[in-house]
Amino acid sequence: MNLTHSGAGGWLTIDLGAIDGNYRRLRGKVGDRTRVGAAVKADAYGLGVARVAPVLYEAGCRHFFVATVDEAIALRPLVAADAQVFQLNGPFQGCEADLKAAGITPVLNSPEQIAHWAALSRRTGSRSPCVIQIDSGMYRFGLDDRALTDAGDDLEALDIQLVMSHLACADEPQHGQNRSQRETFLARRKAVPAPLSSLAASSGIFLGPDYHFDLVRPGYALYGGNPTPGAPSPMLPVVTLQLRMIQERSIETGAAVGYSARFVASRPSRIATLAAGYADGVPRAAGGRTFAILPEKPDILLPVIGRVSMDCLALDITALGDLPLAPGTAFEFIGPLRPLDAVARDLDMIGYELLTGLSHRYHRDYIEKVK
Ligand SMILES: *Cc1c(COP(=O)(O)O)cnc(C)c1O
Repeated sequence: MNLTHSGAGGWLTIDLGAIDGNYRRLRGKVGDRTRVGAAVKADAYGLGVARVAPVLYEAGCRHFFVATVDEAIALRPLVAADAQVFQLNGPFQGCEADLKAAGITPVLNSPEQIAHWAALSRRTGSRSPCVIQIDSGMYRFGLDDRALTDAGDDLEALDIQLVMSHLACADEPQHGQNRSQRETFLARRKAVPAPLSSLAASSGIFLGPDYHFDLVRPGYALYGGNPTPGAPSPMLPVVTLQLRMIQERSIETGAAVGYSARFVASRPSRIATLAAGYADGVPRAAGGRTFAILPEKPDILLPVIGRVSMDCLALDITALGDLPLAPGTAFEFIGPLRPLDAVARDLDMIGYELLTGLSHRYHRDYIEKVK
């Protein structure tokens, strides 16, 4: 990889071919009876929806899920008209006509959202497609039994294309809530006249066919995250993040590195200052918790030390001995040597947070899918 001509402090490589491969893997996993949609909210989990959505479309995806109205309107022209764009949070009052005009399908989560969408249909004399979300026991979005009863008449006035719900504990296959949410979904969806049902996101797919229904909605797994924590990842890695060295320091025992003097050298040390900080999504508290690797020395874990600054962090590279390093040298922070889920675990985060926090200051390099 040639970093020489980039002025950026970090280099983000996003493998579109691996996203394509992951989509096809998930399709193989669920079989022909279940469609595979894609969650592309939050700019496709930080990876760039304008690059990612067309790759998924070409792989066969026709059901795209985003969170907000603005995301939905931005996504609509990026995929052809035979793809549906679903807006998960549902519209705030006043946005209904914009969604309808843009050809976006809202997920209606509450009696109020249903009433306003139904009112739009009555006003315009044409029923617009929508999704109904059922609360199956996560208590975040959707209708419970009472709300379903109250919405009764309005439901009849809608063109409901899909009934869905969301699992709270799918990354813990043994958790009893998975089965209880599935049962609640099965019971409550009877009140909703919809041709298709959907329950599973990435981890839910791996709970088995009982959870697949007609449509699954993976996000994280498409982007190389492990949907089966604790077991080897069934997905292809997608993201590599390399951070570049600005300068290095040789320090004596007792020298304190960085803000608040939080790291004090217990031996003469070699310290590299790398060009990414908390403004780039590296948490301020990462010091003492995670590592980077020089790709030429893949077996040596180099600890991040001290407080992470806004634009830089310190790496203890004493273990490299006197190996010469030029300014601009790249260290792997996330990638094949430092898997996304391992870095997230180190930092007491989830990989979702790391991905969605990836900075726009990084140089972005997209590896095209091999045709
Ligand atoms: C974000 C989201 C998804 C995708 O979840 P992953 O765990 O990333 O696969 C699916 N459905 C809903 C409702 C979501 O909010």
